[in-house]
Amino acid sequence: MPTSVPAADPPESTGRRGLLRVGLTGAAALAVGGGAGAGAVRYSDTHLSPTARVAPRPDEPGRYAVRVLFQGASDCARACVTFDDGPDPRWTPLVLDILADLGVPATFFVLGEAVTAHPELVAREAEAGHEVAIHNWAHTDVYGVEVGELRDSVDRTIAAIEDAGASAPRLWRPPYGRVDAPALMVAAERGLDVLLWSEHTPTAQAAADAAGAAHAGSVILCHDGRSQPSEELLRTLGESIAA
Ligand SMILES: [Zn+2]
Repeated sequence: MPTSVPAADPPESTGRRGLLRVGLTGAAALAVGGGAGAGAVRYSDTHLSPTARVAPRPDEPGRYAVRVLFQGASDCARACVTFDDGPDPRWTPLVLDILADLGVPATFFVLGEAVTAHPELVAREAEAGHEVAIHNWAHTDVYGVEVGELRDSVDRTIAAIEDAGASAPRLWRPPYGRVDAPALMVAAERGLDVLLWSEHTPTAQAAADAAGAAHAGSVILCHDGRSQPSEELLRTLGESIAA
């Protein structure tokens, strides 16, 4: 059976822990951390023009390239389940219990400040064979952030993950999935791939529907922190994964 890792991954990376192996039809999902909550605020009020954002001059010579993955190949036999915004003592233990019951590994995109507050939950994720990856230090948009601050956020989160006992992260999913040239440069500098997603189910109904919606190669976005999770949603998600 093909690996569950998105097809863009080279062979050497297929052993990455995490990047879920769920049966083809059995993926469920949840949603992105968020519609960013922008509400009625105009984009131009909160963001720089895209043309204002440029990657800085590299400190060292080299090839600055990064892979941005959002879906596996259509011939991939499995889907990937990912959880953002944790660890959170309200939800992460429940998610880990559900995944353990299903025998399914997942990838957790964690917030560095939450890791520092609850390192034992990250240790449990790692011990259970899940992959621990970077969301950001805090749940803030990386778009428009000065590159030095971006590096600091990523580096502090990497350190927190390793201090908690997990392996050095290899994936980064910036909050809201928003990336630009400076963020991609930081990813390249740190040897990180950017993993976005292809399935999004922010409600229990959507999680129930996801069993039919997810397909081979799907990257399913779920949450185990902040405001989106609920027990109903997570249990429904588990049922969809098992389906
Ligand atoms: Zn998020």
